[in-house]
Amino acid sequence: MIRVTVWNEYEHERTIPAIREVYPEGIHGALKNILSAEEDLCVRCATLQDAEQGLSEEILQDTDVLIWWSHAKQDDILAKNVDRVIKHIHSGMGFIALHSAHYSPVFRKLMGTPCTLGWKHGDHEKLFCIAPSHPIAAGVSHIIDLPEEELYCEPFSIPKPDEVIFLGWFEGGAVFRSGCTFTRGYGKIFYFQPGHEENRVYDDPDIRKILINAVRWAAPEIRLPKPEENFEIK
Ligand code: ZN
Repeated sequence: MIRVTVWNEYEHERTIPAIREVYPEGIHGALKNILSAEEDLCVRCATLQDAEQGLSEEILQDTDVLIWWSHAKQDDILAKNVDRVIKHIHSGMGFIALHSAHYSPVFRKLMGTPCTLGWKHGDHEKLFCIAPSHPIAAGVSHIIDLPEEELYCEPFSIPKPDEVIFLGWFEGGAVFRSGCTFTRGYGKIFYFQPGHEENRVYDDPDIRKILINAVRWAAPEIRLPKPEENFEIK
């Protein structure tokens, strides 16, 4: 079994009635419902409101792949919790950063760049699969039409990805590297752009397939107990 933790700041869905209507169980609840249908995935949720901001050592030790959604409360995430997440990624835990998590402290620290981009509300996206042989793209349509999605625009100030799997085209006049992989230490990282809180984009079957594939891809091959210590060759 792959142990998945879906972490969400859970702010808009609690405080804005229109967003609560879109995601009555929170974005984390919607993602959990999608992933829980897979027999090889064991899924739990954690939120910023939980003890230790939902990022305790116990939770992370018990997590193979951490999915992360954040937007309004990224500055509230304590540095010690950011460092704990990063230590676990370095040790092999998979990390999937969704949508506005491009600007989360965890993703920015992992990338080492500002991770800034251009944005505009209320656009129409066509998501092109440009690396169809990648495991995250298995069984996914060549072009995914998303009638309602927030526009994200290049330049996206990230380091060169290991692979760009999806390229977003926006009717409003933009392109974006919407699905990128990275490795940091022993951890596999996938950034995926769709997921604006006003739109039920995670209902799309191709988007669901991508998320499930990404979890299986990001699951650790190796998990080191102390990744940040040198070791002596004897
Ligand atoms: Zn958004």
